[in-house]
Amino acid sequence: MNLAHLLVRAGQGQGSETAVAVGATRWATYERLAQRSAALAGALTGRFGLALGDRVALVQHNGPAYIELIWAIWHAGMVAVPINAKLHPKEHAYILEQSGASLCFSSEDLATGLAPLVTGLTELRELIEVGRPAYEKLVDAEPIEVIARAPDDLAWLFYTSGTTGRPKGAMLSHRNLMTMTLCYFADVDQIAPGDGILHAAPLSHGSGLYGLPHIAAGACHVIPESRGFDPAEVFALLPAHPGIALFGAPTMVKRLVEHPAAGAADTRNLKTVIYGGGPMYLVDLEQAMACFGNKFAQIYGQGESPMTITALDKAAHGDHEHPRYWQRLASVGQAQSAVEIRIADDEDRALPPGETGEVLVRGDSVMLGYWRDPETSARTLAGGWLHTGDLGALDEDGFLTLKDRSKDLIISGGANIYPREVEEAILSEPAVEECAVVGWSHPEWGEEVVAFVVVAPGAEVTPEALDRACLDRLARFKRPRRYRFVERLPKNNYGKVVKAELRTPDTN
Ligand code: AMP
Repeated sequence: MNLAHLLVRAGQGQGSETAVAVGATRWATYERLAQRSAALAGALTGRFGLALGDRVALVQHNGPAYIELIWAIWHAGMVAVPINAKLHPKEHAYILEQSGASLCFSSEDLATGLAPLVTGLTELRELIEVGRPAYEKLVDAEPIEVIARAPDDLAWLFYTSGTTGRPKGAMLSHRNLMTMTLCYFADVDQIAPGDGILHAAPLSHGSGLYGLPHIAAGACHVIPESRGFDPAEVFALLPAHPGIALFGAPTMVKRLVEHPAAGAADTRNLKTVIYGGGPMYLVDLEQAMACFGNKFAQIYGQGESPMTITALDKAAHGDHEHPRYWQRLASVGQAQSAVEIRIADDEDRALPPGETGEVLVRGDSVMLGYWRDPETSARTLAGGWLHTGDLGALDEDGFLTLKDRSKDLIISGGANIYPREVEEAILSEPAVEECAVVGWSHPEWGEEVVAFVVVAPGAEVTPEALDRACLDRLARFKRPRRYRFVERLPKNNYGKVVKAELRTPDTN
């Protein structure tokens, strides 16, 4: 099994279809993309002399080279190490060293910062800038046949976003990624001929992973000219490409909805917005559905089981008549077809529906372990189950509601408080733009609940009003004891709130 066969097949069957577009312009057909990738694979084995299983890193903004290279790496039997372009050069260098990458392909502007930091890396042979003539010359290499790989051979080292500590490399095999690909069709959405995916989110993560089902279906990969996420550009680009799927974090969805162009934009070509990677608050989802219609699907996954733990499809989003509609909308959906979910207590014993515990996952999408870290791998995969570190509860129908990461749980006066539900209550106040709830250590209660609140531009709100919003919805002991009004929340390069930075009590 080698994932690269998916592109070879599309090159044969959909050769004249557009495979990659930049903005509104076609960049390559499937025949051309497959041919370029096979030639680049030839360069990896021939010109660079790399061996099976060698790691090849990508430190690039979204662009066509990203797509042709990742398929070339698999074609040649090597392992892709996509690294988030927005990280600091020192973080890039750390991942290059930890992964033992032999080659690194980077965007021109990123290479400048990276070059002085990688001179001491013994395993790294070359840093190649894409877009330079030397890169284009690689595409003149003799194309090679796909190198055979076993299902459990490594395909992608996925570096976790790590809101705490150093990123770890989740080892994803060809089987893991093929399982994710098939689950997309079974549980998330359909892809028809002529459809496309708009890569506004980084190709190093979710958007790149969902490139796989779109290659499998021979769909068009649209790269925005800005190479990133710009809501105005997304709206301007939609009329040029039919049947568009867009993957993004809930914060991206919120930015799209709140953009001044959203109301008047022609979004008929927007087929599906897949959101995941962080909590989607109900108020935001309702607003998004009012703005774009029933085009939403949610996935819950993590680098360790990429995009593939649960899904809440469009049908569930639109099933207003269901007696538990709102409960389902606040959930992350049901287990995807290829995985089992267990809610477990501290000793990994299964808990019944309705009880909250750690979410464990078993199935063919679950990683092989962490790269060069056997101890953490053994702990995370103990008993054959992936320990996600997320807390959640299943209902009788198998819908999973996520509470929080276990490390975010607040224990105050011996009672468990899930920040997510307090955040939902505070966000019900229209004046609140964003909020994050954490626990501060407290001599009497162990922890006390503290809310960091970003007020919407031009709006005002008092702690008393927020208290009322909480008391209307939650048990008294869950309401925040303190409110801190801030201009913005600390976020990492993936847009996730870094709660660790909010946990140090201030002296006010
Ligand atoms: P990463 O490995 O960077 O993709 O982060 C994975 C983590 O993001 C998960 O363990 C969850 O804590 C969180 N996450 C992913 N998808 C969702 C979702 N749909 N709703 C809430 N949290 C999510």
